[in-house]
Amino acid sequence: MAVLKAIKVKDRDGETFFKCPRCGMLFRKSKDYVKHVNKSHGHLFK
Ligand SMILES: [Zn+2]
Repeated sequence: MAVLKAIKVKDRDGETFFKCPRCGMLFRKSKDYVKHVNKSHGHLFK
């Protein structure tokens, strides 16, 4: 399965977030990020 590579960003508290390179949405969990990519950008990989 092809997945867009998330941009990892750290906030001031040192927490890591996953940023979608296509639309800029932020996710706390990589699982949520993967779900978003498949749902919103999954058509890119078909
Ligand atoms: Zn996105």
